[in-house]
Amino acid sequence: MNVNPGGAQAHPHNGWYLHDGQMTSQSMTLFPADHPTYPDQPKGLCHVLAERSISTQRIRGKCKTKCDLEAIACCCHQILECQPDFQDQKSLVQEVIEQAHHLCIVLPKFYCELNFIEFFWGAVKRYLQEQCDMTFETLKENMPQALASVELATIRQWEHQMHRWMDAYCEGLGTRDANAKVKAFSSTKYKSHRRIPETPLAGDVTSLTYTHNHNLFVWCRHRDLYGYP
Ligand SMILES: [Zn+2]
Repeated sequence: MNVNPGGAQAHPHNGWYLHDGQMTSQSMTLFPADHPTYPDQPKGLCHVLAERSISTQRIRGKCKTKCDLEAIACCCHQILECQPDFQDQKSLVQEVIEQAHHLCIVLPKFYCELNFIEFFWGAVKRYLQEQCDMTFETLKENMPQALASVELATIRQWEHQMHRWMDAYCEGLGTRDANAKVKAFSSTKYKSHRRIPETPLAGDVTSLTYTHNHNLFVWCRHRDLYGYP
């Protein structure tokens, strides 16, 4: 959003703010579509804040570099970003995904152990490599089979292992200690005959590797926790 109204800028959704304890809707558009100067133009930061009775006097519009996260109001941009309606706003990607009735899971970048889709891609690529005859046609033919070759139970095992990593990082462990903890959990002896995982065993167990079998235990322990059948 620009500091001033008009110009080339995004057209945000309507927002809201609390006025005398009442939730008040706020249009982000300054003038109606037939206005001669600013037809259907966004209000800009200062105008939006002014309507919320937030003074922007002597406050810069936007920081040139990164905002000072310690400051309460380093710039108008940061003030608006901290407003509850802006805090609640989902990203466009997340909205599109959820509109298609999918679940959007936001994961940190650069941590492949926390992005379990990487394990999925790894399995798909291994399948393609094993079936490869170095032609693009075969690759296109094999791709749907490669994607379907990874069982749902296996994907869930990767997901649950990711949760073990997240738990370890949340405890403040570094990468090495977190790795040791995840490994220790995965290799814990499976003792109770009452917790045999029916669903994974009903699948093609022979296709699971040794490591997957260990992860099977992780899945088994947490299936109730995550509401899986
Ligand atoms: Zn700032």
